[in-house]
Amino acid sequence: MAHPEIRVFNTMQQAKVPLTPITPGKIGIYVCGPTVYSFVHIGNARTFTSFDTIVRYLRFRGLEVRYVRNYTDVDDKIIKAAHENGEDPIELAARFIREFQADAKALHLLEPDVSPKVSETIPEIIAIIEKLIARGAAYAAGGDVYFEVRKYPGYLKLSKKHLDDLVSGAGERELVLEAKRDPLDFALWKAAKPGEPSWDSPWGKGRPGWHIECSAMSAKYLGEHFDLHGGGLDLIFPHHENEIAQSEAASGKTLCNCWMHGGFLDLEGAKMSKSLGNVVRLRDALGQVDPEALRYFFLTTHYRQALSFSDKQLADAETRMEYFYETLRKVDERVTGKDFGKGAVHGEPEKFLRELDEAMSDDFNFPGALGALSGLFNEMNQLTDKPPVKDKALVGRSLVALRDVAKKASLALGLFEDSPQDWLLRRRDRQVARLGIDVKKVDEAINARHAARAAKNFEEADRIRAELKGLRVEIMDTPAGTTWKVTSELSA
Ligand code: AMP
Ligand code: ZN
Repeated sequence: MAHPEIRVFNTMQQAKVPLTPITPGKIGIYVCGPTVYSFVHIGNARTFTSFDTIVRYLRFRGLEVRYVRNYTDVDDKIIKAAHENGEDPIELAARFIREFQADAKALHLLEPDVSPKVSETIPEIIAIIEKLIARGAAYAAGGDVYFEVRKYPGYLKLSKKHLDDLVSGAGERELVLEAKRDPLDFALWKAAKPGEPSWDSPWGKGRPGWHIECSAMSAKYLGEHFDLHGGGLDLIFPHHENEIAQSEAASGKTLCNCWMHGGFLDLEGAKMSKSLGNVVRLRDALGQVDPEALRYFFLTTHYRQALSFSDKQLADAETRMEYFYETLRKVDERVTGKDFGKGAVHGEPEKFLRELDEAMSDDFNFPGALGALSGLFNEMNQLTDKPPVKDKALVGRSLVALRDVAKKASLALGLFEDSPQDWLLRRRDRQVARLGIDVKKVDEAINARHAARAAKNFEEADRIRAELKGLRVEIMDTPAGTTWKVTSELSA
């Protein structure tokens, strides 16, 4: 299948541009990772899922992707949280890295190829700062080192802000407290304060400022010029602007070819954020719904747009996933282990993959890709339930072809990674718990129905079925025996 050209919205150009790998066939991507001072929330998870899906799709397209996502484990917020707890800051950060890893695994996020930490990149950070000082782009002052913003002509090229506006916004307080030459200058290195983690440096003991870490880690693992750099919208200024200034002033090269920024996840009209306190922890959301349902929910909106969170949206996403998995279960039951011979298929199964490909090539249009899935699953249901053609072998071959398209879609989007049976059973367990269904009673009723049918008492068998239906339990007789599901909370 010939693929369309991939085009990506570049924040720098404010336009979609073709993705042309620096090294043919390869993509280097750096995503700013979590600041590990507390549990990750579903706003962070949305951004990480967007980039996870983008990486999956690029790999699906045959590109060899090197995916780097860092941990910010040295930071003011970490130090503050550690002091409040009476814990060592590096240990607190290490603890929340482990928690993050557990949550990321539960959400089925890909493990990045490299997940560097600030605390393990100090020599490289110091080396860049030394280079910046040598080039006259930065200056040491009283154990701190600052980047001299006005000496770097490209400053604000990403955020399109104006220096004059920033000047009036810069706090005088900082001017008094810090040894900056200009309120616009930002810290590359901060002199050690008591109780803070610190490392030896040419400027005395201290620790890096926030932004320099990403300049050092991206250069270390992707080189000084790479393909894609991502993060949430809130990182455009100052974080990414400062990364560009530091990296480009040090290397003289363009830091990356394309800047990608994800929209916010909102809760009740405000950005979900730890500082506002309006957060839903990822692990709490995953206690409620399946990880793929959360992923599906994230994919319902384009990665650059804002997405509003509600429990209802999440529940609806899981109901939608149930429809998909139920369809796959039905199709598998119909085709597994069967040979339908070679020959024509009904319709054009590949069409759905082409639609998905076109949507994803166009700046990773997630909702467009989900639209292609809708068509695909609708077609699978048509062919299993109401086949428009009589030829059973033709229907079988068509279902096999559609199932194959679903497998490819799964690779491209990170959905349907589970076996349908397992997924549906877990969904049922959650519903049983939520609705307080007595599973023992259901099993007894199913046995009683079997006995009634064996005794040819079909009236009683039907009565039992109807009684269970009243409890939202629907019995299904399949070739593998009788099973049951909870009727959808939406359709009930
Ligand atoms: P932090 O741990 O705060 O540095 O954030 C990690 C990542 O999550 C960054 O890329 C942020 O831009 C992103 N992020 C934070 N809050 C939200 C939100 N409400 N919606 C989407 N992304 C977010
Ligand atoms: Zn960063």
